[in-house]
Amino acid sequence: MRTTNMRPKLIAGNWKMYTSAAAAEELAVAVAAGAPADPNIRLAICPPSIWLTRVAAVLKGSTVSLGGQNCHFEKEGAYTGELAPAMLIDAGCQYVILGHSERRHGFGETDELLNKKTKAALAAGLHVIFCIGELLAEREAERTEAVLDRQLTAGLAGLTPEQMANVVLAYEPVWAIGTGKVASPEQAQAAHAFVRGKIAMLFGEVVAQAVLIQYGGSVKPDNAATLLNLPDVDGALVGGASLKAELFLAIAAGAKR
Ligand code: PEP
Repeated sequence: MRTTNMRPKLIAGNWKMYTSAAAAEELAVAVAAGAPADPNIRLAICPPSIWLTRVAAVLKGSTVSLGGQNCHFEKEGAYTGELAPAMLIDAGCQYVILGHSERRHGFGETDELLNKKTKAALAAGLHVIFCIGELLAEREAERTEAVLDRQLTAGLAGLTPEQMANVVLAYEPVWAIGTGKVASPEQAQAAHAFVRGKIAMLFGEVVAQAVLIQYGGSVKPDNAATLLNLPDVDGALVGGASLKAELFLAIAAGAKR
């Protein structure tokens, strides 16, 4: 039987390519106003990059952190349409999401590319929310652990245990993202325990016990409390439900022990 861990919960909202300028500000105002006072429940929101500075202004003085949804691995250069990690810092970000399945599978981002991006983001001073997860076909072929193993080993290659203090992992089974199909508590806990075990092998037990592992994939207010209270689930990465403040805040409330 495990004792209750001391890890805080991090609930992050990935707004993807949604919101107008006005809607982004309105949503950020509502999230900041309703953020839990409990320091063990932390919130972050990740708006489209064009709204980052506006949302940063709204969040000033609040407990809610700001994140980007992607970044390049170079410091600057002729990379049309891209953002350097330091630009996210300048815009007021503390976090960046890397390796989201929509980037891996929609934009062909490889483990090697994500490793470069992770190193660059950490070097710039960002915290990285590093996403991993298997496709439905991979789960059905019983390859979930092999996929997670590869994504962690290659994606985090060369990082030091000290750098891992600034990495949050997000286990997001691809078949659960935006589909309304949520992983069962047993599936989520088994995957999270596997991920923590793999981190122990790569970086040692101290890092593994400290690292936050979020679950992502159709998290909603009605399933949040169950998922967020599993022993190895340390928060949630929320897509659709993060676009409505009342849903996002209700999910965060589910993190209360
Ligand atoms: C996501 O995009 O990371 C995600 C988990 O989306 P949703 O909550 O909509 O499934």
